[in-house]
Amino acid sequence: MSIDHLQQLDKIVSLSKARGFIFQSSEIYGGLGAVYDYGPLGAELKRNVREAWWKEMTQKHENIVGIDAAIFMHPRVWEASGHVEGFNDPMIDDKQSKKRYRADMLIEQQIEKLHKDGDIDEAEKLKKLLDTSGTREGLCEDLHKIIMDYEIKAPDSGAFDWTEVRQFNLMFKTQFGAVSSSEDDDAVYLRPETAQGIFVNYKNVMDTSRQQIPFGIAQVGKAFRNEVVARQFVFRMREFEQMEMQYFVQPGTDEEMYDEWLSKRMEWHRGIGIREQYLRVAPHPEDKLAHYARDAADIQYRFPIGWQEVEGIHNRTDFDLTQHQEYSGKKMEYFDQSTRERYVPYVVETSVGLDRTILMVLCDAYREEEVEGEVRTVLKMHPKLAPITAGVFPLVKKPELQNLARKIEDDLREDFNVLYDESGSIGKRYRRLDEAGTPFCITVDFDGLEDNTVTIRFRDDMKQERIQVEHVSEVIRKETKNWNPS
Ligand code: ATP
Repeated sequence: MSIDHLQQLDKIVSLSKARGFIFQSSEIYGGLGAVYDYGPLGAELKRNVREAWWKEMTQKHENIVGIDAAIFMHPRVWEASGHVEGFNDPMIDDKQSKKRYRADMLIEQQIEKLHKDGDIDEAEKLKKLLDTSGTREGLCEDLHKIIMDYEIKAPDSGAFDWTEVRQFNLMFKTQFGAVSSSEDDDAVYLRPETAQGIFVNYKNVMDTSRQQIPFGIAQVGKAFRNEVVARQFVFRMREFEQMEMQYFVQPGTDEEMYDEWLSKRMEWHRGIGIREQYLRVAPHPEDKLAHYARDAADIQYRFPIGWQEVEGIHNRTDFDLTQHQEYSGKKMEYFDQSTRERYVPYVVETSVGLDRTILMVLCDAYREEEVEGEVRTVLKMHPKLAPITAGVFPLVKKPELQNLARKIEDDLREDFNVLYDESGSIGKRYRRLDEAGTPFCITVDFDGLEDNTVTIRFRDDMKQERIQVEHVSEVIRKETKNWNPS
């Protein structure tokens, strides 16, 4: 039995909590909206995804280096980047419930409703209106007019009593030093993206790492956005982690590099085991491009909530470096020794959310299968991402079996995350590790004591094989390398 892919999110949220992947932040106090903590299995999964990305970017490309910039940055950075002025969402308040909504999302929901009711023409008409609504200045007025014309009601109270639509900045503001003051001069922001830490260090990196264009800078780190619509588990959080790489190129080569990175990044998603049919590229239409971008596309995954962005690939041109050159007064030019040319490089950016990738991995891996009249819940994720690579079990609690199982566990621990488990029936132990996404289970029995063998059981097809104790590591490595999603 396979359950409908589109019904899975609730089950994944419960499994995440029950098995210790992801908890709500400060849960004992009722939780904090759109903030999450990773539990023991989640922390390992996160580390593995982060490592897969870091390895792909830095280890496998001699011309990409990593940095780790601070979360706090000079306030002028966010003026130069355009975030102070333009990092806004259009919001509207329900006067009755005092709840705030994203105006464009309300309209999206109305479009969905019309679709569900079979009113396709009207849905298409509304979609067209939304797509063509507003330049930045006119956006609020346009969205307000649509909400009024279509008499869109507040989802929670059912009222039709709206304020105007206003822009709401998504950056979290805090203050530096011991002085308590409400002056904006003291304000520093929690970075809303990691990219700016790379742009402001571009010169430092070039001067110290002897890189020549084209070269890239990679970074993984926290970003903060005061998202208003934040209801979809770790899909949209207020504190999250990004994995970004900015690739500095000669103007004129940017389009080719953009295409190259788009296909390389798709390849990476397939490489971490995401099923091909649930991945797609969605280019941004020209009239919807961000102010800094010449080209942009989303890599989307078919989440239970529909096709959604996991990663953005952008051709940012020389926008950021030119802005920083202007605001800081420091030259951002590159001097090409071979052609004696001087120019401000263009930037092709790949920006993927770590938490969103984890949600994608969980959604893609989650299966319910009927086995001997019972439902088996299993996470069929790539073995290289699995929080626990192998379980090691003595068949029963007898010292001879326990000793050998402990010895195998010790040997494996050098290279893999393993779990020793001797409680409950073998079947129960398998099921527990199926839910944790553990791809291999090793069981020591009495026959094995005679001929130095164990049984290895594979998570995906539940097949078992007898192998020599000294081959366990090798089999795990080979199976991990050759793994394909099913
Ligand atoms: P969205 O349209 O979903 O708000 P975005 O286009 O603003 O995303 P970018 O600024 O391009 O996103 O950020 C790059 C990546 O960072 C996204 O593809 C996503 O994976 C991740 N990301 C962005 N915002 C969040 C968030 N609030 N929570 C979790 N991940 C996020």
